[in-house]
Amino acid sequence: MQNLSRIAAFLKELDQAEVLPSARMICNKRDVLFENYRQLVERLSESVIGLKAGQRTAAFEALYQESEQIRRECEQARSAVDAHRREHGC
Ligand SMILES: [Zn+2]
Repeated sequence: MQNLSRIAAFLKELDQAEVLPSARMICNKRDVLFENYRQLVERLSESVIGLKAGQRTAAFEALYQESEQIRRECEQARSAVDAHRREHGC
C-alpha cells in the first residue's frame, strides 16, 4: 500500500515535470527547427485543401506538384527536429 502511494507520488511528479514549461529544457535551436516544421505543415494543409477543391486541370497538376514538394520539405523538417532532439537530448 505504501509502495503504491510512493509510485503515485512519483507519477504525479513526472506529470508535473511534463506540464511545467520551466521544468522542460529550453533550447532555442529546437524551437527554431520546430517552428519551421510547423509553418511547413500549415502550408501543406492549405495546399491539400486547394487540391480537394480542384479538378484534374493544369492548375491542379501544378498545385499537386507543389504539395508534393512541401510534403518532402515537411518530412525533412521533421527529421531535423527529431535528429536535433536525439543529439542534444532536449
Ligand atoms: Zn536542443
